Amino acid sequence: MKAIVATTDRKAEVVEKELRELKPGEARLRMICCGVCHTDLHVKNADFGDVSGRVLGHEGIGEVVEIADDVTSLKIGDRASVAWFFEGCGHCEYCTTGRETLCREVKNAGYTVDGGMQQECIVTADYSVKVPDGLDSAAASSITCAGVTTYKAIKEANLLPGEWILISGLGGLGNLALQYAKKVFGLKVIAVDVNDGQLEFAKEFGADICINPLNEDPGKVVQEKVGGAHGAVVTAVAKSAFNQSVDAMRAGGTVVAVGLPVESMDLSIPRLVLDGIRVVGSLVGTRQDLREAFQAGADGLVVPKCEMRPMEDINDIFEEMEEGTIRGRMVIDLA
Ligand code: NAD
Ligand code: ZN
Ligand code: ZN
Repeated sequence: MKAIVATTDRKAEVVEKELRELKPGEARLRMICCGVCHTDLHVKNADFGDVSGRVLGHEGIGEVVEIADDVTSLKIGDRASVAWFFEGCGHCEYCTTGRETLCREVKNAGYTVDGGMQQECIVTADYSVKVPDGLDSAAASSITCAGVTTYKAIKEANLLPGEWILISGLGGLGNLALQYAKKVFGLKVIAVDVNDGQLEFAKEFGADICINPLNEDPGKVVQEKVGGAHGAVVTAVAKSAFNQSVDAMRAGGTVVAVGLPVESMDLSIPRLVLDGIRVVGSLVGTRQDLREAFQAGADGLVVPKCEMRPMEDINDIFEEMEEGTIRGRMVIDLA
């Protein structure tokens, strides 16, 4: 079978690979598709260390074709996920308190274990989330990282319907953040992106205010127009976006950091203290978050925009991602 692996020269390539036999607790998926996340770009660029030879991908959806004798959580024929949160230890302080993505012994698909960009993939059955009927596989793939991550991040902002959320970065994650914010949480949305194409796309999906920081100062505009946002989800891969989002908060607001530029942000301590601003990090979502995020897709509330591409296009897709020409998500067709 074919697989997409990270290479030592910071690219990706399609190689031939053999799968091992299943161990107890595992299932084998015949992969249908796998979305390309900006995290895959960070991983193949070795931003988080060299993992050359690793199969990339953590927006994988496949059909269960084999299960180990002891598996009860999946059955043959189910469609199930290959997510960044691939497996936790199941017994630590994080795993037992609803914060399993923070498990110190976590395995991450497409980073510490082989991921979803291969024609067949072995998963730990109890950690692979079943896709509900009525949700198309390409849409499900996008929700497996972009969807669940932004759904969870909005939860972390603790907002009430009708409040203002600023979404910085309207790419693969951001356009789903916008849809979850509008359709699931009933929020009003300020979309911030340096790419006018992404802002037009955001407008189509119902963004109430669009700001390009290359033309206007988001902090100033948001304070003037709505008195500051109640929360922000920052998916932009740029330090400036984090600083600008703090500037755009009203007192008591929460900035949820999601994007992973390899930099530090600046925080004014008086602004933090005197205005009670909270800045929190949010990492993907738990299996239950993914079930909820899938359901919003199955219910038609969130409609990911995806385009299917062959495996051989992987390096072109990474280039398009860097150039900012992608609207929504590119999804690798593995079927
Ligand atoms: P993407 O490339 O599809 O989108 C990024 C968007 O940010 C683009 O629209 C780009 O124009 C915009 N942008 C760039 N600079 C900006 C700036 N200065 N201000 C505003 N917008 C700006 O990437 P993606 O797949 O959506 O991923 C985004 C980031 O989130 C990546 O760093 C990725 O690794 C990270 N991520 C984090 C988690 C998590 O659990 N925290 C999960 C998935 C992805
Ligand atoms: Zn991702
Ligand atoms: Zn654990």
